[in-house]
Amino acid sequence: MIVAVASGKGGTGKTTVTASLAVTWPGPVMAVDLDVDEPNLHLFLKPDISGIETVTIEVPEVDEEKCTYCRACAELCQFKAIAVMGKAIMTFPEMCHGCGGCMAICPAGAIGVTTRELGVVERGLARDLIPCVTGRLRIGEAMSPPLMRHVRSHMRAEAGDADILIDAPPGVSCPAMSAVADSDVIVLVTEPTPFGYYDFTLAVEAFTPLGKPMAVVVNRAGLGDERVYGFCAERGLPVVAEIPYRRDIAEHYSKGLVLAELDGELSARFGALSRTLKEMAKEGGHA
Ligand code: SF4
Ligand code: SF4
Repeated sequence: MIVAVASGKGGTGKTTVTASLAVTWPGPVMAVDLDVDEPNLHLFLKPDISGIETVTIEVPEVDEEKCTYCRACAELCQFKAIAVMGKAIMTFPEMCHGCGGCMAICPAGAIGVTTRELGVVERGLARDLIPCVTGRLRIGEAMSPPLMRHVRSHMRAEAGDADILIDAPPGVSCPAMSAVADSDVIVLVTEPTPFGYYDFTLAVEAFTPLGKPMAVVVNRAGLGDERVYGFCAERGLPVVAEIPYRRDIAEHYSKGLVLAELDGELSARFGALSRTLKEMAKEGGHA
């Protein structure tokens, strides 16, 4: 089963919740960081890295000796990654999505293939127990979905019997939607502040059409107001855990330590949350 931990905005505590779930999960679990723009789950779980794989995408390389400047490729490309101006043709690899359309359509066989590096996938083991997979986008690379697809295609094969915990990108854009697409349960982490509330409502609106069970974790509970709770009640969303707004929690987090290990009460709280989510995933998805 797959549990995706998401949030309407960054900084809500999504990653610290994912790390705490990983160390309290009832049974084998794999931790996957799909927040490829800014992966930081490893800062908490501190896996020993055993492998780094470079992920590339195929982009066109034009042989101008063969090109007849017919423009078929430029007219096909929806991403304006290839352009023909008179007797000149240019490619823009950073804008290419690697669909291969231009290569297939070129009547002169003038388009070959080269590659562009998207980023890397790191694999490791935390605490000699928890397999960790991290997608890390190359600095300057704009397109995260192809790298995320690569990570997702491998995680199922490599997880074996283990459940999968996904640390999803924040927000509701394409990467966030793609990160939760395979999940059996979506955990939405929010905070009861005006910004937290607003972005949380956007996330609920975006994820609801997916038809997946959703559960809410309120971080920094005690800060702000009650609007998050009111919205959850209105939408029938269960608030499955609260993390109190406390100085010692903030200090623990700032040291890169796992919140569930701060004290016995938090450990029990995350243990209960893990069991609740596992039950929800069993009921709502495929165990
Ligand atoms: S489709 Fe082929 S021949 Fe036509 S402009 Fe593009 S590269 Fe040149
Ligand atoms: S591979 Fe696809 S996205 Fe890239 S330039 Fe060709 S048509 Fe455009």
